[in-house]
Amino acid sequence: MRGTSEHDTAVARADIDDHPVGPGDQIADLADVHLEGASSDDVSHGAAVYTPSVLPPIGPYERRPATLEPWDPRAIEVAKAVAELIHEHRPDLVVEHIGSTAVPGLPGKGIVDLSIATTPDDVPAVAAMLRDLGFGPQPGPDPWPPGRPMLVGSIVRAGTTFRIHCHVLPEQEELKRDIAFRDALLADPALVEGYAALKTGIVTSGPLEPHQYTYRKQAWISDVHRKLGVERRPITPPATIGILGGGQLGRMIGMAARAMGYRIVVLDPDPNCPASGIADRMVVSTYDDVGAALRLASFSDVVTYELEHVATEVVDAIDVVKPVRPGRLPLHVTQDRIAERRFLESAGVEVADWREVRTTEDLRRAADEIGLPLRLKVSTGGYDGRGQLRLSDASEIDGAIERIGRPPGEPLLAETELAFASEVSIVVARSAVGRIATFPLACNRHDEGILVESLAPASLDPEIPERAAAIGERLAVMMGITGTLTVELFLMPDQRLIANELAPRVHNSGHWTIEGAATSQFEQHVRAICGLDLGASDALTPTAMVNLLGTGPAREAHLDSLGLARAMADPTVHLHLYDKRQVFERRKMGHVTAIGPSTEEALARAKAAVELLRWTDAADEAGGTA
Ligand code: ADP
Ligand code: MG
Repeated sequence: MRGTSEHDTAVARADIDDHPVGPGDQIADLADVHLEGASSDDVSHGAAVYTPSVLPPIGPYERRPATLEPWDPRAIEVAKAVAELIHEHRPDLVVEHIGSTAVPGLPGKGIVDLSIATTPDDVPAVAAMLRDLGFGPQPGPDPWPPGRPMLVGSIVRAGTTFRIHCHVLPEQEELKRDIAFRDALLADPALVEGYAALKTGIVTSGPLEPHQYTYRKQAWISDVHRKLGVERRPITPPATIGILGGGQLGRMIGMAARAMGYRIVVLDPDPNCPASGIADRMVVSTYDDVGAALRLASFSDVVTYELEHVATEVVDAIDVVKPVRPGRLPLHVTQDRIAERRFLESAGVEVADWREVRTTEDLRRAADEIGLPLRLKVSTGGYDGRGQLRLSDASEIDGAIERIGRPPGEPLLAETELAFASEVSIVVARSAVGRIATFPLACNRHDEGILVESLAPASLDPEIPERAAAIGERLAVMMGITGTLTVELFLMPDQRLIANELAPRVHNSGHWTIEGAATSQFEQHVRAICGLDLGASDALTPTAMVNLLGTGPAREAHLDSLGLARAMADPTVHLHLYDKRQVFERRKMGHVTAIGPSTEEALARAKAAVELLRWTDAADEAGGTA
């Protein structure tokens, strides 16, 4: 690929055993019975025993929680035996034993990692051959893409079942990196000691949270890669970033990227969308058009998204040809509120009491169980408070399902309405090698479901932002985010934090970072998706952001120029307009940020400015003169 860019396949994914079981998990695929050990003369179970004519030499894989085991010398023997099996079919392939089991003395999870590099065209044939040997597909919620698969299996040696990961790479670069790391360990006992100490430290620092294991290891390994000069190449300017969605978030991601010298291509159904003015190229189509998405990918070195409402087929199709970041899994999890609830629960993050409902009968039962008032929410496609109803009284249950306007039988989310003390949100960025930077917590106010203001850093007991950051970091790692993740939380009167919503992207409540933080959320996202290190995420000053919403009937969008001038007479005020052609009631048109000695003062300034901004009636003014 282009000399300036990271290779297409260089998508950092956590090792599958470091993923807890989550939504979309394919573990059931592997549950089919395997007859390892049964032989044709086994009659002990009578005629009921099914005996296949040929037993594949590789047995089924078994997922186990990550534990640290001492190095087992038999692993070398196992790797050799499996390589020989592969060679019987493909003598031309070089099978490399990589990972912890290849390094004497190094503790690890005991999985024998093998790696084969070939050409992109040959990957399917190699994968098919491995399946013939008995290897199966990778379980877990976020498998490697088909162009760079990992197959899994096991083999029994001396009464012990050894698990095997077999990576098939469409190029040499990744393999060279793994070999360099292994050989550095083989040559340097101090490095082995350091790596072993790191692993032990992670395991003994408390209960082994698999994501923490991955995350801390990944960053350490990437440091070694850097020292060895084999680190992954980042995607560097003038490479092109593809953005699915051309709203204000796409526009601001694009602006940060352009400041760094990247080029931008945007897919959006509206040729005049907010990002169109800053894009080098537009692909005009809907978010479910796979052909258009592949066209976008063909112009891009990396693809990201600014909204969750992108068809999964689109992202899956792009993932085969170009890296999609923050990733496929985060999108799959967050575009469906019910899947998101399940994921949050599996991650041990508290959510409001909820029920999946399809019928009025279900809703009535849910109201009995979780109580009123409740929120009834569409599972997919809702935003800015759209697609949800508040039911405060049993008399409102009848007809509520119809009023929400979705086809009958579609799953909906019914959820207890929480009497929260405040709403807060945390934006977390995770780099391609697993480093994390978390912005200070923002305190948000909504009006009828739409964000109106954010203050940061939130003036709270520091213990609360710390807990929020820990939640954000855990979720970012569990989803394998490369980019930004936003977690919306309710802070309860008793200080509990209850997760409301996830967004695997930059977020309205992070706009304050443009002026208020050492690095903006948009630059941070660009750095992460391009494989660069993250910038500092500290707040520079107390900051407030107030959204500028539309008012009145739909018409051409013009701000009264004198009002705008007066708003900006305050030197601490910054105006951001999204260049939306049409204004209408409550449309997000822009935002104002102000800084000050305290967030309260900053808020007063931002609000004063927004009050001076007025949408004209089209004929009032033709732009004005300076
Ligand atoms: P959206 O996708 O529209 O942002 P949310 O679920 O975040 O949907 O709901 C928007 C806003 O509605 C929230 O920020 C909050 O103010 C309010 N809200 C949503 N769910 C609840 C709830 N269970 N209890 C109290 N308020 C809620
Ligand atoms: Mg929300």
